[in-house]
Amino acid sequence: MKRWRLGASALAVLATVGVCVLFLPALRQTARPAAALSSHPIRWVLDAGHGGEDGGAVSVTGVAESGINLDIVRRMDAVLGLWGQPACLLREEDISLHDPEAGTLREKKVSDLHNRAAAVEALEGATLVSIHQNSYPQSRYHGTQVFFAPTEGSQQLAEAIQQGVQGTLQLENRRAAKQIAGNVYLMNHVDNRAVLVECGFLSNPEEERALRDPEYQTRMAAVLAWVCLMDKGAVPS
Ligand SMILES: [Zn+2]
Repeated sequence: MKRWRLGASALAVLATVGVCVLFLPALRQTARPAAALSSHPIRWVLDAGHGGEDGGAVSVTGVAESGINLDIVRRMDAVLGLWGQPACLLREEDISLHDPEAGTLREKKVSDLHNRAAAVEALEGATLVSIHQNSYPQSRYHGTQVFFAPTEGSQQLAEAIQQGVQGTLQLENRRAAKQIAGNVYLMNHVDNRAVLVECGFLSNPEEERALRDPEYQTRMAAVLAWVCLMDKGAVPS
C-alpha cells in the first residue's frame, strides 16, 4: 500500500500545532518553506512496524504495538506533507504485507518483511523511517532509542533523531543511537538510508499510557518529523 500526497487533514493541523508549540523559537526565525519544495516524488518511506496477525509487542494493558506504530506514522506523514516532503507509507491499515500464497504465520512474516524491503528498495534515494515500540520483561526501562542501518548516512540521522527526542520530549533520556542488530531483516536488506525508532517501552506502565495517548503520539510524531525536515533542509536546524 503506497500513497503519494500532501497531508491536509485535521490531523495535519493538529500535528502542526504540536510542531509550532515545540519549536516556536525556530519558527520565528524562518520564512515559509517554499524553497524546500522539490520535484523529487518521495523523500521518506514510513514503515509502521508489524500489522495484521503480527501485532508485535503487547503492552501492559493488552494493546498491540502495531496500532501505535501506525498512529505515529500517520501523524508523521501529516507533518512531513505540510512541509512539502512527500512520504510513502508501507501500510496504512492493520494488515500484513505478505503474499497470498503465504500460509503459516511464519511464512506470512517472512513474506511481509521481504515485500517491505522490496518496496523500500524500489524508492531509491528515499530514507526509511521504521516505527516500533519496545518491550522488556522488567517494567522499569523506558525511553526512545533509535537504531541505524549499516548504510551511508543512517547513523547521522539516527543520532539527530535521538538527540531531537532527548532535547524535547525526554530530557532525562541518556540512551545513544546504536547500529541495528544483524537479525533485523528489513534494516539489513535495504540499500537506502534507514533508521528504526523504538519510540518507547510498552512494558513500562507510565510510558505505555503516554504512547496510547493521541496527544503524546502527535508530539512524538512531530519531533520525529521535525528532525527529518531539518535533515532535508526544509526547516532551519
Ligand atoms: Zn516492533
